[in-house]
Amino acid sequence: VAAIALSGVTKVYADGTVAVDGVDLEVAEGEFVTLLGPTGCGKSTILRIVAGLETATSGEVWLGGRPVDEAGARDRRVSMVFQDFALYPHLTAGQNIAFPLHTEHVDDATIATQVAEVARLVGVEELLHRKPIQLSGGQRQRVAMARAIVRKPGALLLDEPLSNVDAAVRADLRAEISSITRTLHVGTLYVTHDQTEAMTMADRIAVMRRGRIEQIGSPSQVYSDP
Ligand code: ADP
Ligand code: ADP
Repeated sequence: VAAIALSGVTKVYADGTVAVDGVDLEVAEGEFVTLLGPTGCGKSTILRIVAGLETATSGEVWLGGRPVDEAGARDRRVSMVFQDFALYPHLTAGQNIAFPLHTEHVDDATIATQVAEVARLVGVEELLHRKPIQLSGGQRQRVAMARAIVRKPGALLLDEPLSNVDAAVRADLRAEISSITRTLHVGTLYVTHDQTEAMTMADRIAVMRRGRIEQIGSPSQVYSDP
């Protein structure tokens, strides 16, 4: 069963903009797929539809073999990391990471264990008592990643997570994000307009233009085709 599957997905916004135009896409369990394309080609709209934050005008979306509309945005099968990290500013890093577990009424001992586990995995175990404002962009990104994976989702959605991170740490984070998603064996859909990110991180790259996937394949396939 695919972690994420889209069939004939189209999104027409109220003003008539066709943001996504008949997209078919499957992300296997443990697979890392990037959506690569210029601003405005429909990448974020696809992520928001998969996350249940937006509904498709037509077409179907499945998470782990079940239609996404049965699930909604809070479904534990999917987590999303946003470009601006969207951390709660008044909570510590530890509280941010623990938040999705608190909303599910997980007991405190389990929360402490799971927070410690993912904090170690993303390398923020020394930063758990800091507020977001006391963290660098790269550290915020790690905390956002930890919060996204703490419920062990089947699908992970990353919307340009490195665009607000210093260039100096971007390469390290690229390597770490792909290593973490592989360790967790989570199906990942990663949005970027950066060819280097797509090339170095992805199992497959879906090249988008004007709401459509124009080409899809491994990095070497995509970059050897004229
Ligand atoms: P990308 O993530 O590739 O930059 P988006 O998915 O954000 O692209 O946007 C795709 C298209 O849909 C763009 O033309 C954008 O202006 C338009 N769009 C996005 N959100 C809305 C909205 N809420 N209402 C109308 N048009 C929108
Ligand atoms: P609080 O004052 O609510 O305990 P903290 O920032 O200390 O705020 O912790 C928030 C959450 O993160 C808690 O639920 C705790 O279980 C977890 N947490 C914080 N620090 C650690 C840590 N060093 N190891 C494991 N879990 C931690």
